[in-house]
Amino acid sequence: MKRTSLSELGEFGLIQHLSEKFVNKQSSTLKGIGDDAAVLDYGGKLIVLTTDLLIEGIHYDLRYTPLKHLGYKAVTVNLSDVYAMNAVPKQITVSLGISSKFYLEAIDEIYEGIRIACEAYGVDLVGGDTSTIKNGSILSITALGETDAESVVYRHTANSGDLLCVSGDLGAAYAGLQLLEREEHLFTADPSMTPVLKGYEYIVQRQLRPEARKDIILMLRDLDIKPTAMIDISDGLSSEIIHIGTKSGKGAKLYENKIPIADETRSFATELGIDALTYALNGGEDYELLFTIKQTDFPKLKNNPDISVIGHITEMSEEFLLITQDGTPVRLRAQGWKNFSK
Ligand code: ADP
Ligand code: MG
Repeated sequence: MKRTSLSELGEFGLIQHLSEKFVNKQSSTLKGIGDDAAVLDYGGKLIVLTTDLLIEGIHYDLRYTPLKHLGYKAVTVNLSDVYAMNAVPKQITVSLGISSKFYLEAIDEIYEGIRIACEAYGVDLVGGDTSTIKNGSILSITALGETDAESVVYRHTANSGDLLCVSGDLGAAYAGLQLLEREEHLFTADPSMTPVLKGYEYIVQRQLRPEARKDIILMLRDLDIKPTAMIDISDGLSSEIIHIGTKSGKGAKLYENKIPIADETRSFATELGIDALTYALNGGEDYELLFTIKQTDFPKLKNNPDISVIGHITEMSEEFLLITQDGTPVRLRAQGWKNFSK
């Protein structure tokens, strides 16, 4: 019997393989697998639906992750996918697998984080499931949001000439993760030391307590801009640009000197002797929005401090180029998170 290793396929190859045999039959299924959320038409309103799975030891490390932050982040990363469809999140469900190492007080902390996020984003917790597991913990959240046919924005609808825009700054969450892991290793080796996070509050916060960019969705609406395509940045800028481009049958050109990177991210990268650009392109978990706009919309956001125009969509299908500071074109590769790498 042939045995194919998952590392050969990778996460996206596996999803592609699994979904091939399924054909949607419901007329209400407007968009199934392949975007930030599924889009369902229930007459008048469109419903978007998305789910995420967080596993202890893979997605979070409780040696440095406060439980309240874990609960908060579990919600915001899901809502980020709802906003990426230009939808408004309304309800979530929370499923929890916990081993006997957790006390009630610990679970209360996780749920306090979930509650604070529900308050902050105006969503209701409407259900879930609870089970014991042998080891560790698992947290899975499903989010449901609302939009309409005029507002919904997909990944596959970018046009050549559209401008590539990104909110906020990139790479900080991955820098924060590297800092936390470094300090954790030092602490394990010498428990008398005190982890040093001073001066790096921003990158730590970006890793432990990310926000979903509800504000950007509202701002775009106020500016009367409807993106032509959109995705949230969970796996790194390269991977997400390639998703938008590939799904739209286009290419993209992006300019190194336009990529927004915070000073703190740069100084931590310098400390480690790493190029901060690597964090922005291939680090994960920024949860910023990457979107494309028509060139005619450019004047509406050209001086906006929250948005950077980093490049444009090209007709060159599947050609993704990064133009470096000195003008050299380099091919982009989707490194991102390798879920099934060895
Ligand atoms: P995101 O990073 O935006 O959460 P993913 O890369 O996780 O998106 O997923 C891409 C698409 O594949 C989504 O439409 C998601 O619902 C779908 N998907 C992921 N895993 C599975 C699975 N095991 N079975 C079916 N669909 C899946
Ligand atoms: Mg997403």
